[in-house]
Amino acid sequence: MQSSGGVDLRDKLLESLNVELVKGGWIPQKCEVCSCLFYGTKKYKVCASEKCGEPTIEFDGEPNHFISIEELNKKIELFFNKSGYSIEKPLHMLHSKNKDLKVKNLEDSLFTMAGVQILDDFLFHEMSLENKKLKKIFIAQPSVRLLSISKVGSLPGFYTSFINVCSEHINPTLDEYLKDLFLWIKLIDELFGLQEIRLKVREKIVKWNDRKSPTVQIFFYYKGMELGDAGFHYEFPQKTRDSMVVSDIGFGLERLCICINKNKRHFDLLGPYLQSFMGDYTIIDRTRTLVLLIGSNILPSDTPHGTKVRSMIKDLFAADKGTFKWLELVPYFYAFWSGFTQLELSPLKIRDTLRSEIYRQNNRKLATDLKLNISNEELIRPTYEFVELYIHGKYGKVESLNKLDAAIKNMFL
Ligand SMILES: [Zn+2]
Repeated sequence: MQSSGGVDLRDKLLESLNVELVKGGWIPQKCEVCSCLFYGTKKYKVCASEKCGEPTIEFDGEPNHFISIEELNKKIELFFNKSGYSIEKPLHMLHSKNKDLKVKNLEDSLFTMAGVQILDDFLFHEMSLENKKLKKIFIAQPSVRLLSISKVGSLPGFYTSFINVCSEHINPTLDEYLKDLFLWIKLIDELFGLQEIRLKVREKIVKWNDRKSPTVQIFFYYKGMELGDAGFHYEFPQKTRDSMVVSDIGFGLERLCICINKNKRHFDLLGPYLQSFMGDYTIIDRTRTLVLLIGSNILPSDTPHGTKVRSMIKDLFAADKGTFKWLELVPYFYAFWSGFTQLELSPLKIRDTLRSEIYRQNNRKLATDLKLNISNEELIRPTYEFVELYIHGKYGKVESLNKLDAAIKNMFL
C-alpha cells in the first residue's frame, strides 16, 4: 500500500531543508564536476567526493592529545539522551539471529552492519507501532562490513568493523526530521566545528531486503571523508498498511573520532599504540573484528558466516606470518567491545578458537602439500607438534625432508 503524500513530502523536505540551511549560514552550491547540489559554510569548487577531484584526506596531528572512541561515544550518547532520545542496546552481530528475513544480498546482510536494523520488526514484519511504542532512539551499533576490505590499512576511515552511531525515528513529521538532522549538525559543530563540513544532497531508491524505498540522503563530508548520512525515507513501502516515513541518521564513530583527533597515523586511535607504530594495520583490523565476531559466538565453519570468519583468520595469519602477535591484542579488543556490547565468549575462548583455526588451516595446507590423509582431530594440533609427529613417522613414511621444508615455506606464502 502506498500513501499519496510521499512525493509532496519529498518536495516539502527539499524546500524546507534549503530554507533552514541557508538560515543557518550554509551556502547552496553546485559541484563543478558532477553538478550535484551541496552545502558548505564557505565556497568550494567540488562537492567533496574523491571522484570529483577532492584529494584524499591527510592528517598531521600528534597523537598525545586525543579523545578515545569510547569517550567520544559517551559524549554523543549523553548529547542524544539529553535531547530526549532513548538509548537502545545494540543488536547481536549475527543479523539472521535477530530477524528471519529473506536475504537478497548475502554479502551485505551476513552480519549486523548498521544501527537501523533495529527497526526491522516495524519495517519488514510490519509490527504494530502501538504495541511497542517506538520513540526516537539512539543506538551505538557494533557493525561489520567487508565490502571495502581491500582499502583497510591504506585509506583512513576504512575498517572491517566499526561502531555505527545513529538516531532512528519512525513516522516523524517533516519538522521532527529536520530537528533530528540539525541536532547532528549541532553535535558536529560542538565536536570539531563546521568549517570543513560539506553536506551533499542525493536522492536514491534504497533497495533494502524486499523493499524499495525512495530516499533523500544528506551526506556529511569532512574534507574528503564521508562521515555519515541523514536518510529521509518518505515512502517506505508496507504490505499491510500505509507506507511509513523513516528518519535514519547514522555516522561512523571511528571516522568522527579520527577527524577530531587528526592523528598522523589513524590506526593510533584503534590501537594499541605500539602495534600501530609498528604498522601492523591488518593484524589490528582483523583481530579487532574477529574478537567481535567470535566473541558473539560466530565461529569459523563452513556456513556462510563461518566462511567469512575463516577467511579473516587466513588474512590474520598471512599478515602476522606465524609470529602470533595478535595474541596480546585479544584482551585489548575484548575490553573495547565490552564497552559497547556483551560478548558471549570469554577472551580465553576467543583466543583458543582463533589459534585452533590457524593450526587447522596451516596443518591442512601441509597435509595437502605432503599428500597426507589426516583426520580432523590431527588437524587442530599445534602446527609444531604436527610437524614433529610427521618427522617421527606418525603419518606414514617420511620420503624427503626437502619436501617438508618446501611445504613449511609454502605455509607462510
Ligand atoms: Zn561532485
